Amino acid sequence: MAYELSEEQEALRAQIQQMAVEKVAPRAAEIDREGDFPWDMQKLLAENELLGLSIPEEYGGSGASLLSNCIVAEELARACATTSLIFVVQKLAAYPIVLAGSEEIKQKYLPPLARGEVLAAFCLTERGAGSDAAATKTTAVETDDGYLLNGEKCFITNGSIADTFSTFTMTDIDRGVRGISAFVVEKEFPGFSVGPVEDKMGLRGAQVSEVKFEDCLVPKENMLGERGSGFITAMKTLDSSRPLVGAQAVGIAQGALDVAVGWAREREQFGSSIGKLQGIQFMLADMKTRVEAARQLVYRSATLCDNNDPELSLFSAMSKLFASDMAMSVTADAVQVLGGYGYMKDQPLERMMRDAKVTQIYEGTNQVQRVVVARRLLGKL
Ligand SMILES: Cc1cc2nc3c(=O)[nH]c(=O)nc-3n(C[C@H](O)[C@H](O)[C@H](O)COP(=O)(O)OP(=O)(O)OC[C@H]3O[C@@H](n4cnc5c(N)ncnc54)[C@H](O)[C@@H]3O)c2cc1C
Repeated sequence: MAYELSEEQEALRAQIQQMAVEKVAPRAAEIDREGDFPWDMQKLLAENELLGLSIPEEYGGSGASLLSNCIVAEELARACATTSLIFVVQKLAAYPIVLAGSEEIKQKYLPPLARGEVLAAFCLTERGAGSDAAATKTTAVETDDGYLLNGEKCFITNGSIADTFSTFTMTDIDRGVRGISAFVVEKEFPGFSVGPVEDKMGLRGAQVSEVKFEDCLVPKENMLGERGSGFITAMKTLDSSRPLVGAQAVGIAQGALDVAVGWAREREQFGSSIGKLQGIQFMLADMKTRVEAARQLVYRSATLCDNNDPELSLFSAMSKLFASDMAMSVTADAVQVLGGYGYMKDQPLERMMRDAKVTQIYEGTNQVQRVVVARRLLGKL
C-alpha cells in the first residue's frame, strides 16, 4: 500500500520542527541532567493540541492519522526523546479506551486526556510478565460493588504522574490469555498506589515506576470491552503504537545525524575539514541511507495501520525492529564522527545514544519483534 504525505502533513512537520528547534531542543540537555518530569514540555504539547492528536474528534481530540502522529513523534524525538515520549505514551495509554471503552467511559476519560489536562499510563508489564505479557498475575475479582484489583505492574511510564491508567489484569485464570481483562483505573481509587521512580540509563525526564493495586475497587463499568478481551486489546494497542516507537527512533537518529554532519563540516584535522575524508563521508552516507530506509518503513507501517490492513501487525513489528536497531547504530556512529567530543556530555550525542537504546526494549523487545516476523514468515511448523 503506497503512501504520500499530504500538504497538511508537510505543514504539520514544519510546525513541529519549528517548535522543536525553538522550544524543545534548548531544554533537552537540562531535562536529561535533572531527571525531573518536564512539565513545561507537557504544557507546550497540550497548548499545541498535540496530546489529543490521536483521540477521535467526538471526544475532544483531532482524530489525526497514525502517519501524522508518527511525524510529530519523529520531529519531537529529533530534539528531545523524553518530550517525544510524553506524546507517544498519551496515545498508547488512551488507545485501549478508544478501542474498547463504552460510550460513557470514552465520554468520561478521553476529553481531559485530549486537552492534556491529565496524563495517562499503560499498565501491562509485571516483574514476572515482561515479554510474556500473558503471564500477568494482577488479578481482578468481581464483587457486588465492582472489581477488586490486586497486584503490581512495573516499569510504567508516567506511573507516578498520570491520573488515568489503562490496566491489564487476570479475571479468569483457567482461560489463559482469554482470561485477561482490561480496566481504566483512576489514581484516586482506594487501594491504588505507586512505587519509587526508577533511575534509568536514558529518557531521564520520563517518570517510570511501579503501580500497585491492593484491594483496589474499580467500578464494573470501567472494564474496557468484554471480560476476557483484554489481551486482544493490549496487542491491538501495541500494533498501533510500535510505528510510533519506530518514529521516535528515526527522530533520535536524525538528530544525531544532524549533529554529525555539522561537525564533519567544521572540524579540522590534518589541515582540512574531516568531512573531506572518505572514511567520514562513507559513514555519513550509510547513516543517512539507514535513517531514510527506516523512515519509509515506519511511514508504510503507519499507513497500513490507518487502513486497517491485514499486514499491519507484521509491518508494525518490522518498523519498530528496523528503526530501533538503526537508531542504536547511527547514534553510536555519530559519537564516532565527533571523536572524543562525542563522548562528552556537552555534546548531545551520548544522550541520544542512551535514549536510542530503550527503543529496542519497550513495547516488546526486538527479539519479540523478530518472533512476530518469523511466525508470519514460517507459519505453523
Ligand atoms: C524505560 C521503559 C519504559 C517502559 N514503559 C512501560 C509502560 O509504560 N508500560 C508497560 O506496560 N511496560 C513498560 N515497559 C516495559 C517493557 O515493555 C518491558 O521491559 C519489555 O517488554 C521487556 O520485558 P522485560 O523487561 O521483562 O524483559 P524479559 O521479558 O525478561 O526479556 C529479557 C531478555 O530475554 C529476551 N526474550 C524474552 N522472550 C524471548 C523470546 N520468546 N525469544 C527470544 N528472546 C526473548 C528479551 O528480548 C530480552 O533480551 C518499559 C520499559 C522501559 C525500559
